[in-house]
Amino acid sequence: MMNIILLGPPGAGKGTQAALLQANRGMIQLSTGDMLRAAVAAGTPIGLKAKSVMEKGELVSDTIVSALIGERLDEAAGAGVIFDGFPRTLHQAEALDILLGQRDRHLDYVIELEVDEEALVKRIIGRFSCAKCGANYHDSFHPPRVPGVCDICGSTEFRRRPDDNEATVRTRMAEYRAKTEPILPFYADRGLLRRVAGMAPVEDVAAQIDAILDGKS
Ligand code: ADP
Ligand code: AMP
Repeated sequence: MMNIILLGPPGAGKGTQAALLQANRGMIQLSTGDMLRAAVAAGTPIGLKAKSVMEKGELVSDTIVSALIGERLDEAAGAGVIFDGFPRTLHQAEALDILLGQRDRHLDYVIELEVDEEALVKRIIGRFSCAKCGANYHDSFHPPRVPGVCDICGSTEFRRRPDDNEATVRTRMAEYRAKTEPILPFYADRGLLRRVAGMAPVEDVAAQIDAILDGKS
């Protein structure tokens, strides 16, 4: 039962790779971004608090996201977990150690997707997803096989994230550099950090990750 973190700036491909790992290895993707968007859509107290922070591209409080992760970890009992978009601060990384320890879990790998910042803006501006099943697409890099129809579920409704615009993306990148990058040494010092070339095509990135998880890299 493996527990891994996918780390990288917005648009690095964390969600794309987490979905593949979920499908191929039966692991469970825990995305704090998805949890927060669901809370916003449902109008819960957490959602009401998080909405404006997310629209600005800033980080939601450590207490809120750590509590969300704790709940989901309990629901994922017995399965390996992929942390996607969490932890994003040193405080969250420390909270994760405690949450895992309380459940007799430990981290196996922290995988950093290395990418080029200008390409990220392109990836994010072109990103959209199926409104019904959540499958991810991109205007240029991964359009649906039949234009306007979801490959997975056949739905014809799609949506774009309100924070996927250029101004907000710049803020999200700055937040990543200022608050998230500093946690890399925290994991490197423990020998957990592995780097993959995130600019490669989706299947190549997936192969690099597979090699790490299978102990071949
Ligand atoms: P993150 O979860 O890190 O924010 P996503 O997985 O949502 O990133 O990817 C952002 C966008 O880039 C999506 O539209 C996705 O289809 C596309 N994408 C992901 N990985 C790659 C890749 N290796 N090459 C080209 N486009 C990619
Ligand atoms: P993401 O889907 O990972 O790109 O996250 C979208 C937005 O949700 C971010 O820009 C933050 O506002 C918020 N968010 C997601 N995960 C976290 C986290 N671990 N800590 C703080 N804010 C988060």
